[in-house]
Amino acid sequence: MTLAKNDCIIVGGGPAGLTAALYLARYHLSVAVFDDGTSRAASIPVSHNHAGFPGGINGAELLARMRAQATMYGAEIHDQRVTALRRAEKDFVVSFADGDVSARAVLIATGVVNRMPSMPKGKHDEALKRGLIRYCPVCDGFEVTDKRVAIIGHGSKAFMEALFLRSYSRNITMLSPSGEHQLNAGEQARLQELGILVKVGPFEIDVEDAIVIRTGRGTLQFDSIYPALGSDVRSELASGVGATVSEEGCICVDSHQRTNVPGLYAAGDVVIGLDQISHAMGQASVAATTIRNDLCDLSALIR
Ligand SMILES: Cc1cc2nc3c(=O)[nH]c(=O)nc-3n(C[C@H](O)[C@H](O)[C@H](O)COP(=O)(O)OP(=O)(O)OC[C@H]3O[C@@H](n4cnc5c(N)ncnc54)[C@H](O)[C@@H]3O)c2cc1C
Repeated sequence: MTLAKNDCIIVGGGPAGLTAALYLARYHLSVAVFDDGTSRAASIPVSHNHAGFPGGINGAELLARMRAQATMYGAEIHDQRVTALRRAEKDFVVSFADGDVSARAVLIATGVVNRMPSMPKGKHDEALKRGLIRYCPVCDGFEVTDKRVAIIGHGSKAFMEALFLRSYSRNITMLSPSGEHQLNAGEQARLQELGILVKVGPFEIDVEDAIVIRTGRGTLQFDSIYPALGSDVRSELASGVGATVSEEGCICVDSHQRTNVPGLYAAGDVVIGLDQISHAMGQASVAATTIRNDLCDLSALIR
């Protein structure tokens, strides 16, 4: 299948990609979104920090509303995984299972994938739905106020997350599954000063009314655990056409969301930022407006 050339192809239909699609469609540009259905937002049981929804909003419901709004103005959405991206003279060619499509500009909004703790996926997903496993203290630290909370991880990343969560609860434990906490003396002293416990594995994670951690020396129970095991940044399509990425794999952009490759833009979690819906949307609106201005061909746009 060969689709007609678009002004812009967006890879990723999460909050960033769908916001950009809405803006571009409303700028009277032709835009197609490709999405393989793995948005981090889809795993949000209820978001309470997304402005405009005082009762909270389910992540999948938010995405469905955003899709409806973008398609209403003419954005096309294809539920397909993009398998390759290449340059063809001034344009880009995007490949997917059923064919190829070309575009004058491409926005990468592919997000990141959180690393899960070691436990069966079914149990993990059930715990995520019930708020027993959480991934984002910035998003939902409020919901664990005064609860029993554990951070799963080691080293500076888990240390920083433990400190952040200490402003919500006195009952914080750092659990290092590998058997080594990898904290330096200063970090250990700070955790002790704040009453944050440190336990090392190996242990098993079970899901009952609470999260149950079974160690060789007994069990511990928590109302919520936060894995702080890092994430994998989906920036390989961009780096494949020469975009610069950071040490962690985030796509480097300027203040207008342009990469170093002309015509290639990036927004959302795949770029360094706060990893929040509002930030993804903000970056996407800047990216879409930059794309509109960079592509601007007055003879084609003036009505
Ligand atoms: C459990 C959880 C709770 C959260 N709670 C909140 C909250 O309450 N408030 C908040 O602001 N943020 C929250 N977040 C963070 C929020 O989900 C992300 O910041 C947001 O989803 C980022 O949007 P994005 O569009 O950049 O990436 P994503 O939403 O991850 O979307 C990326 C999209 O790209 C697609 N994709 C990737 N590669 C390809 C490819 N090759 N081809 C086609 N499609 C591709 C994926 O299918 C996906 O749909 C939470 C995250 C998690 C995990």
